[in-house]
Amino acid sequence: MEELYADYVVIGSGPAGQKAAIQATKLGKTVIILEKDPYPGGASLNSGTIPSKSLREAIIDLTDFYKRSFYGKGQAHKEISINDLNYRLNKVIDERRKMLLQQFEKNKIKLLYGQARFEDPHHVLLLDSEDRILCKVRGDFFLIAPGSQPRNPLGVPFDNEVILDSTRLLRIDHVPKTLLVLGGGIIGSEYASFFAALGTKVTVADKKEHMLPLLDAEIGVHLQKALGEIGLKMMGKKELEKITRVENHAEVQFTDGTKIEAEMLLYALGREANVEHLHIEAAGVTLDRSGYIPVNALFQTSVPHIYAAGDVIGGPSLASTSMEQGRLAARHAFGVQTHHFPTFYPIGIYTIPEISSCGYTEEQLKELGFRYEIGRAHYYEIARNIIVGNDPGMFKILFHADTLEILGIHIIGRAATEVIHIGQIAMSFNARIDYFIDQVFNYPTYAEGYRIAALNGYNKLKHRK
Ligand SMILES: Cc1cc2nc3c(=O)[nH]c(=O)nc-3n(C[C@H](O)[C@H](O)[C@H](O)COP(=O)(O)OP(=O)(O)OC[C@H]3O[C@@H](n4cnc5c(N)ncnc54)[C@H](O)[C@@H]3O)c2cc1C
Repeated sequence: MEELYADYVVIGSGPAGQKAAIQATKLGKTVIILEKDPYPGGASLNSGTIPSKSLREAIIDLTDFYKRSFYGKGQAHKEISINDLNYRLNKVIDERRKMLLQQFEKNKIKLLYGQARFEDPHHVLLLDSEDRILCKVRGDFFLIAPGSQPRNPLGVPFDNEVILDSTRLLRIDHVPKTLLVLGGGIIGSEYASFFAALGTKVTVADKKEHMLPLLDAEIGVHLQKALGEIGLKMMGKKELEKITRVENHAEVQFTDGTKIEAEMLLYALGREANVEHLHIEAAGVTLDRSGYIPVNALFQTSVPHIYAAGDVIGGPSLASTSMEQGRLAARHAFGVQTHHFPTFYPIGIYTIPEISSCGYTEEQLKELGFRYEIGRAHYYEIARNIIVGNDPGMFKILFHADTLEILGIHIIGRAATEVIHIGQIAMSFNARIDYFIDQVFNYPTYAEGYRIAALNGYNKLKHRK
């Protein structure tokens, strides 16, 4: 059997694996990536981040979503086909795939296709789809970055037409007239809003009362209102009893006796680590009770030369955080100066409207007993927003009432996932709220929302006794 060697062996070519591999080659190390799928890029490129965000952009463009407030519903009444949507999606994926392969080539990263399985702490076997051994790979250091997959219970009759998870949803052959989304987390909420914007009648059902309970509650209320305006219906406090496919539609029974049917159903109730074929026990690595690989702050597993990063170590399970975890893991493995994963990082939620936040929510500050003040800027106060389409939205900045330090930033509305970074950087330099007041911002911009919110909050403080 052929045996290959590399300083660094990476399992998985998603965001965590990619950035770790590139970092290692920049440090002069030899790297092999092992990838089980025929296409590199992981869930991020093939079934998660990139396809969902391309779909979102296609829907916004094809429905003239942002033109509605000035010019009426426009194309929203036209039938938009799945081919129209897939055209953009496939083009984006192709471009990103080419770019990724170029990066691997430029950095002399060897990409081998096959399923990785540990033989012992320093050897991994690479197997084909029929479990035949292709080769053995020896490494000094390993990164386990196999990502996650939708958590699909056995009792749910998944197919590729009616009862779908987020991966299968990308293979549908028409746009449904009705869609039931089970799960009001990030993935469920994003897709629910995309289809509602497209004109599908969407209902979201969840155990919790509201969608996205992780949000600052005020932003959550704003979201609920905006989604209601595009026709999305939320059914909170619903416990699932049974899902059945009846001819060409899905029927869902809840424990309170209610029943709902829809042309398609998206089951979005969580994901699980992709570890079942890895035989990590052969390497001496174990899983935690939730099925994830536990790591220390430097991304080392209990076996010090084996690291893990990305979705396989559990939350926050984002492409953005996975990339940085992978990079930091590789830096530590090869003894270069590194730092801990940042305490504050932005979370982007691409519902329509989009949301982004960094730092504490108001509820957390209350619980922690902070003395805080709030600065708000509503999108109707921001000139740029009126010019481009008068969409709903707001900035909410939480800051310490005594020290004026910024504690949390929450933005909902157009450009939120971009402008959040201004606040994130300010926070990382421990900026005070008056920093935004004393700067000149381009006008008209969405970023100006920071200044308006800062003035709003700062003035309240001046009038406080
Ligand atoms: C619908 C959806 C939308 C999302 N939107 C966003 C977003 O907007 N922003 C964001 O930041 N994040 C988003 N995410 C999350 C993001 O996609 C993941 O957090 C990210 O892909 C995790 O990266 P990773 O490298 O850990 O794993 P992955 O990207 O899943 O890559 C893991 C790779 O490992 C391979 N692999 C698995 N097992 C083996 C094995 N035994 N041998 C060899 N290879 C193996 C897999 O085939 C895969 O290619 C979204 C996810 C989904 C599902």
